[in-house]
Amino acid sequence: MPGAWAVIFLDDADQPGALAYHDLTPDGLPQSKVFVRTTLQNGDLVSVSASHELVEMLVDPAINLMSTGPDRRTVYAYEAADPVEDLSFSVNGIAMTDFVYPAYFEMFHKPGSTQFDQMKKVTKPFQILPGGYQIVFKGGTWSQIYGSPEKRKRFAREDRRGHRSEERRKRILKPASPTEIARANARLTRSAPP
Ligand SMILES: [Zn+2]
Repeated sequence: MPGAWAVIFLDDADQPGALAYHDLTPDGLPQSKVFVRTTLQNGDLVSVSASHELVEMLVDPAINLMSTGPDRRTVYAYEAADPVEDLSFSVNGIAMTDFVYPAYFEMFHKPGSTQFDQMKKVTKPFQILPGGYQIVFKGGTWSQIYGSPEKRKRFAREDRRGHRSEERRKRILKPASPTEIARANARLTRSAPP
């Protein structure tokens, strides 16, 4: 859809054509991917995954914003849902991800002095909740800081292909290719049983 930002729902990163979607819409606008089967296999809710991608896309559409933070030699990805991942609240009965506010990335706030996230679970800047994580750039490389050892283990088991953390590493976003997508869809239709 020309002129529109996109959230695309795919089965998983191995779905035919998944790679053809790249990271931007064909006309170069922000695009997020939600991997439905992967989400369900991880025991997560699609509404939480979709809202996670949506809030992060709204805050940092080109996946290139960073912040200074507690460690002077580290820069922190400006991801609005990662530090509070796994927490959700209900909107009209549908679970939506918790997300952090700009104050979260502002070191000058004293603990408890303001609201740092929608669900009021975070009490100070740059806090990572047990189910959350943070993408950081340190010493020339990207890595993750986890809110708990359990999160580290869980993260390692998950298939994170096509997620923002992966896109960030690539640095150059690429528009989706309608011809490649059409080709993949045609292959899919031909191989489908009658
Ligand atoms: Zn994220």
